[in-house]
Amino acid sequence: MNPPAHLKAELSGFKFDNSYAKLASALYQKQQPENTKNPSLLLLNHQLAKTLGLNPEVLEKEGAEFLGGNAVFTTATPIAQAYAGHQFGGFNMLGDGRAILLGEHITPENNRFDIQLKGAGRTVYSRSGDGRAALGPMLREYVISEAMCALGIPTTRSLAVVTTGETVYRDDAYPGAVLTRVASSHIRVGTFQYAATTQNHEVLAELADYTIHRHFPEIAEAENKYALLLEKVIDLQASLIAKWMHVGFIHGVMNTDNVSICGETIDYGPCAFMNSYDPATVFSSIDSNGRYAFGNQAPIAHWNLFRFAETLLPLLQADEVQSIAIAKGLLEKFPAIFLEYWLDGMRKKLGLFNQEADDLKLVEDLLMYMQKNKADYTNTFKTLGKDAIKAMQIYHDAGFQSWMRHWEARLSRQAETAAQSLALMDQSNPAIIPRNHLVEEALKAAVDHNNLKPLERLLSAISDPYNAREDYAEFMQAPEPAFDTYYKTFCGT
Ligand code: AMP
Ligand code: MG
Repeated sequence: MNPPAHLKAELSGFKFDNSYAKLASALYQKQQPENTKNPSLLLLNHQLAKTLGLNPEVLEKEGAEFLGGNAVFTTATPIAQAYAGHQFGGFNMLGDGRAILLGEHITPENNRFDIQLKGAGRTVYSRSGDGRAALGPMLREYVISEAMCALGIPTTRSLAVVTTGETVYRDDAYPGAVLTRVASSHIRVGTFQYAATTQNHEVLAELADYTIHRHFPEIAEAENKYALLLEKVIDLQASLIAKWMHVGFIHGVMNTDNVSICGETIDYGPCAFMNSYDPATVFSSIDSNGRYAFGNQAPIAHWNLFRFAETLLPLLQADEVQSIAIAKGLLEKFPAIFLEYWLDGMRKKLGLFNQEADDLKLVEDLLMYMQKNKADYTNTFKTLGKDAIKAMQIYHDAGFQSWMRHWEARLSRQAETAAQSLALMDQSNPAIIPRNHLVEEALKAAVDHNNLKPLERLLSAISDPYNAREDYAEFMQAPEPAFDTYYKTFCGT
């Protein structure tokens, strides 16, 4: 591999720092991406490029080389990060088996973002994998992560998809691709679990201090900084999962290696948005027991946080009994913190500005009627209080009619006007989510027929999710319920 001129990195706007690669060498392996046969830039996120201070015109010309992994910026120190994780409850040693962290890009505003190439070839952590990624799942991550961002939910972003000109073999043969993922960091609960397995407290403390310095500098000087770190991560997870629940997002594979410490949604594999409301909804083909079902996401996040807390025990106090007491005290607050975030968002979805004691029951009753009537989660909230609700089947349920009267009475007891409530609801209830059937259609057109038009239209639709726009009417229609019965998502391998 011939490293490109330094100048090229500068022209594109990339400014790499490699702070993670200066940590204890147990935490990563230096690793160059593997060459691909014929890299070609398929998608470039111009808007994201600009917000990062990158030059989209240069990237359009040179991006295939750099973002496909055939050339490496001379200022980058590519690494594969080590991590472990509980996958469906079982502990495994993992690590970046098909992703290379090029380094951290420093934006003109001095913000630091990981630039990672997913699908960039084998690493020491690849085990039996080929280090590669298929085009469909990489486009899927691009679409869903950008949809999440537009919905206002913390997430990793997608800068580009480069096709490799190579074939990857899974259940069938697929075109290969590399996704450029942008993240506040790739430090996971699993990264801490890995550090804990080294049994080297210095490595663990170094990782914890690095994480604090990078994400929570405000606690760096505190005497109990590791307890505060745990408290921060608990809070961020509670807030994140509540946001998922507000829009019907199902992550699908909430293994501890897919839990980002900084509270971003990460690793879009078998994820999907729910149509008809049912907390038992699972789309992932590998989740036969419903461990990561829609309604189980908060308890699972809590379980994952226990795993995180366990890694911090040696740092909390010298005495393990005291450490456990501290961790337990913080962890047991999670359900209440989650409930507050969740209820806060659900109130907004119902146009409520203030709090009343019976609000939880009001929300739960609505969800009960939605489940009973197999009502579309997104469209029920979006049409609530509008004429369009009359076209929904749920409207003809006498129990729901009575619920609406309760809700209207509740609205009338607050100071804000009906118009203010409707405005709050419109800002809080998306009209457009990446509906599974349309995502599949767009991916199929791109992968099987080289036709990017449906994907471009999908990306345009999801970029402004809270506005109901007539010209995107198909995105606001729920599929026939039969679609969900058979719809399965597969891990992004
Ligand atoms: P994921 O399901 O993407 O969260 O990946 C779980 C683990 O499997 C991570 O350690 C990945 O790096 C690894 N992995 C997934 N796909 C591949 C692949 N094609 N080659 C090598 N490692 C992989
Ligand atoms: Mg993962």
